[in-house]
Amino acid sequence: MSQVRVRFAPSPTGFFHIGSARTALFNWLYARHTGGVFILRIEDTDKERNSAEFYNVIYDALNWLGLNWDEGPKVGGSGGGDFGPYLQSERAGIYADYLGKLKAAGRTYEKDGAVWFKLLGERSEVYDEHRKKTVTKVKVAPTVIDDLIRGRVERVEDEDFVIVRSDGNPVFHLVNVVDDLTMKITHVIRGEDHLSNTSKHVELFKAFGAPVPKFAHIPLILKQNGPGKMSKRDQGALVEEYQKRGYLPEALVNFLALLGWNPGDDREKMPIADIIRLFDLLGVNQSNARFDEKKLAHMNMAYLLALPPEEFLGRARDFFRSLGDNAVAKAALAAPEAYFQAVMQLCQSKLKSFEELPAYTVYFFTDEFPTDAKVREKVMTKGAPKERLQELMAALPAMDFASDAAIEAAIKELAAKGGLGFGDYQAVARLALSGTNVGPSITGMFRVFGRERVEQRLARLLATAGDS
Ligand code: GLU
Repeated sequence: MSQVRVRFAPSPTGFFHIGSARTALFNWLYARHTGGVFILRIEDTDKERNSAEFYNVIYDALNWLGLNWDEGPKVGGSGGGDFGPYLQSERAGIYADYLGKLKAAGRTYEKDGAVWFKLLGERSEVYDEHRKKTVTKVKVAPTVIDDLIRGRVERVEDEDFVIVRSDGNPVFHLVNVVDDLTMKITHVIRGEDHLSNTSKHVELFKAFGAPVPKFAHIPLILKQNGPGKMSKRDQGALVEEYQKRGYLPEALVNFLALLGWNPGDDREKMPIADIIRLFDLLGVNQSNARFDEKKLAHMNMAYLLALPPEEFLGRARDFFRSLGDNAVAKAALAAPEAYFQAVMQLCQSKLKSFEELPAYTVYFFTDEFPTDAKVREKVMTKGAPKERLQELMAALPAMDFASDAAIEAAIKELAAKGGLGFGDYQAVARLALSGTNVGPSITGMFRVFGRERVEQRLARLLATAGDS
């Protein structure tokens, strides 16, 4: 069998939707699985709408996701190839040539200034109730699409259609087919919303006397809540948002791979090499997949947890850098290296994504952190918080700060003396150190802050305890 050649063919709309990312990914996976070629082709015939930024949205998203293209526009390490140009806006000459072939074969005619594609078969005028007008129907056999995902699909394509508009611009159907044909695409993997176009495309391939590629229409992605396809307006629909929020691209890729495909078992977190090895179009579900942001957050957390600490550190720092003027980010980046490292180590297993970092770590990097009033109210009105603070402060000088275990033992010993438990000290200590009731382990926090800062913060809470 000849080498697989697949393409991802986005239009530069200024957005990169989760659905586009999944289509790109399935094409990329299929190419990598089969040792084939992954092509990026930009469908930018709608000239007025295109701007340089819009192209970059596509390149940036693919680069961030790690979906490198073998052929296509040259960007960074990706692109080049013998079948270009890969921007439709630069292929007018090719479309004119191929239009010439259809004309020469007698498969076109002009009407109302537009060029129409002529189907073969007996014609008759029929009144169409729905459209309330008379149309020319052509007696045709149904077009058969042997879809690799949907199976055999038959569609009746029985009306001629426009292939060049009266303004001279070739229509999507023509350019899409000419490109797939000239780029020697073997498999067209695209969203199911294109299935309604495919019969037209098959008829065009046949008219060119060209082999018809195999088709694989991927099921839709349904919006999280309620019926219907996820649109770019739905929450969580844009790839760029995840990038900004500090999601790990490998987690998003893993999540997207499972949106309509499964490896045949119930594995979820999988290395990309395994996904590539197991990916097959036959394993793509026919039913629509529902987007689930919680599942994505969960996947991201699993990936964060699995990062080697030094890798986590580097990416956390990159994320802080991406926040620019954010005060916590600036303070974090200015902190001594060893301290920053220690804080990140405490947080690695706690975060769902890097976007939580500033709020989660603010009190490590500044003394002017916010206090949750409700938490304060609750903690300071239960038991004897002032006594607990005093006892803790009195125990600090003798406390061994070298390890979490030693700190825990010291607090437990203190508690045992008064017939109390670890928990009696924990809430008030956490409030003093962080102004909240959630966070990393309290013993870890003691160790990382060190004796002096723990003492200062306990004292500060004690000094204001009367106010609450
Ligand atoms: N430009 C089309 C789109 O963005 C792609 C069509 C195709 O993949 O054939 O939907």
